[in-house]
Amino acid sequence: MRVGFIGLGNMGRPMATNVLKAGHEMVVYDIREEAGQPLIALGARWASNPRAVAHASQVVFTSLPGPKEVEEVALGPGGILEGMQPGAVYVDLSTNSPSCARRVAAAFRAKGFAMLDAPVSGGVTGAQTRDLAVLVGGDEEVFQRVKPLLDAIGTKVFYCGPSGAGCIAKIVNNLISLSLNVLMGEAFTIGVKAGVPTRTLYEAVTRSSGDNNRLRRGLRNQLFKGNFQPGFAVDLALKDVRLGLELARELDIPVELLALVEQKYLEAHNRGWGRLNSDAVVLLQEERAKVQLRAPDL
Ligand code: NAD
Repeated sequence: MRVGFIGLGNMGRPMATNVLKAGHEMVVYDIREEAGQPLIALGARWASNPRAVAHASQVVFTSLPGPKEVEEVALGPGGILEGMQPGAVYVDLSTNSPSCARRVAAAFRAKGFAMLDAPVSGGVTGAQTRDLAVLVGGDEEVFQRVKPLLDAIGTKVFYCGPSGAGCIAKIVNNLISLSLNVLMGEAFTIGVKAGVPTRTLYEAVTRSSGDNNRLRRGLRNQLFKGNFQPGFAVDLALKDVRLGLELARELDIPVELLALVEQKYLEAHNRGWGRLNSDAVVLLQEERAKVQLRAPDL
């Protein structure tokens, strides 16, 4: 199949690599030209803008920071919609707002094309090893048609419902996992300052009812090792919490805890940590508690 891939960052690059390795032809684009180099080395072709990518593709993927970039790349001048070929499908893998996903899907539908929102979960490691959840919204028949391609990106492909449903499911997931970072920061600083080392607390909690994936795959490999390289950046985490708050506001749903969580990621952003891994949010709590959570040999 001829596949286009736009947005070759921390997630886009490994996802595109897996699609390429599954034996598909690929055309790529990113505003940072150097981001295309590793894929070109594997046989992908560079295109000069999103329209040119779409012109050469049967399925076009994007993996972009958020709603603003998705709207610009999909619908803007020189964008994907201008280059779509008959029968082609556009699949957005970004964590986007459902309202933006629905707006873009409607613009594509009006010209006879299908668009799926298909945000992913599992981080950069999951993207490299194909261990991703792909949460899909849009027309189910179109979903079935592109599913074999989605299987090249993640082993947990899941249809969530009509346009926007993939984004909603992803936002719910990230509200939980990003809040857990803040909550675990508070709980672990209490435990360590009370005299039990981080490693022992980790071993105890992962055997108990507080066990969770964010602790096992996130804090263990990042915060506890003092490693804040992206990963999943603080600024993307702030964007995702805000997508959740925006949705809550649209629906008149009170969400006090999530409003506090937003303040934590905002403070981390204001410290200049926006490009660090989202675990850096816990550094704020370490500072206030005057204790560090480290277990480098865990
Ligand atoms: P990133 O910042 O590393 O990558 C984004 C890429 O998009 C960059 O290469 C950037 O140059 C490119 N880009 C930006 N604007 C563009 C434009 N107008 N045209 C073409 N290219 C453009 O971000 P990431 O970590 O790869 O995340 C991508 C998406 O996946 C985000 O929506 C994020 O929320 C989501 N996500 C990330 C992770 C993670 O662990 N990093 C996990 C799940 C979901």
